Amino acid sequence: MMPRRQPVLGILGGGQLARMLALAAAPLGVNALVVDSSAEACAGQVAPLVVADWTDYAALEAFAARVDVVTFDFENVPAETAHWLAERVQVSPAPQALAVAQDRLAEKTLFRECGLQTPEFMAVDTREGLDQALAVIGAPAILKTRRLGYDGKGQFRLKEVADADAAWDALGAQAAAHGLILEAFVPFERELSVIAVRGRDGDFRSWPLTRNWHVDGVLSMSLAPAPDLGQLQQRATALARTLAERLGYVGVFALELFVRDGELLGNEMAPRVHNSGHWTIEGAHTSQFENHVRAVLGLPLGDTGARGHSAMFNWIGDLPDAAPVLSAVDAHWHDYGKQARSGRKVGHATVCAPDTAVMVERLGALAVALERMEQAQPALDALANR
Ligand code: AMP
Repeated sequence: MMPRRQPVLGILGGGQLARMLALAAAPLGVNALVVDSSAEACAGQVAPLVVADWTDYAALEAFAARVDVVTFDFENVPAETAHWLAERVQVSPAPQALAVAQDRLAEKTLFRECGLQTPEFMAVDTREGLDQALAVIGAPAILKTRRLGYDGKGQFRLKEVADADAAWDALGAQAAAHGLILEAFVPFERELSVIAVRGRDGDFRSWPLTRNWHVDGVLSMSLAPAPDLGQLQQRATALARTLAERLGYVGVFALELFVRDGELLGNEMAPRVHNSGHWTIEGAHTSQFENHVRAVLGLPLGDTGARGHSAMFNWIGDLPDAAPVLSAVDAHWHDYGKQARSGRKVGHATVCAPDTAVMVERLGALAVALERMEQAQPALDALANR
């Protein structure tokens, strides 16, 4: 009898997302093979790691021969690399979808075409162009690189028009290579994300919306299902579905939204599993990681329903003491195995509860024990409807 051959999922990028994808793939009988330019990449602790650059085509050729499908932990893989691989092996999501999500201008243009409003924006290529955009959009505003920005990197906030020189000093050098975009600063009431998945057969599912809080542009806290949504859940889900169908998208993605005056505005789309969906590991019937693996391998998608309520603390820079989480009821610790470094995502913790009253109790107690009250307070306020 021929030995059974297990499917192999190739992952471009070896960070915590690849690590959690590999962990979710294992029970499905799927092996992961990860590529990263660093031998220290944390996914390498749980899956075999190929150390190669995005332009090391000899290494990528050998990698492509060993995998059944290629996916991404990192959306800024160069488009040429994604296209080159797609000529040799199935790549999901497709390089065309990746290209749209890599470019804030293309992305926001697509949002508008799909009926999702966005903050006002204008492309900026030169210093004069910045003045012209400021004349239209006004201040406050945010200047961002069109490409290669994430977690608040590649962004400059202009409080007033007179900050244009400082903004250009910070980002002007990147205008030629990546292009820039000026966006109106939105005084939003809430930030939400839709985590959704589309299968190879077009089956579309989304998890309950997540409410998110960022500090310095980096996710700090998430709560799911987002409380007090009214019609926003249906509207956001319908928009995510339209986007996914328009892109012929296969896999999990996140749509990040602002709520202003009760209306949804599109901020960005992440063509991959997303930090604001980490709660789904314990808080949903099927996690975003497992459903991504299922989608890209053409397997049936799992139930995206929530088991109850979840709150996620993101650990940025360094980890707090794990003991309070390890000893709390229905709380879950995730250490990504990374070295501590300022601004780096090094782990998260999720606490689950059957209802909001119990969530308030558990989250409050955990925040006190972890000495992270400041981080949890906005979520506690939202739960208390303050
Ligand atoms: P981004 O990398 O574009 O997702 O930005 C990171 C975070 O910065 C967002 O989650 C928001 O908290 C904030 N931010 C980005 N763009 C805007 C905007 N146009 N108005 C207000 N806040 C923004």
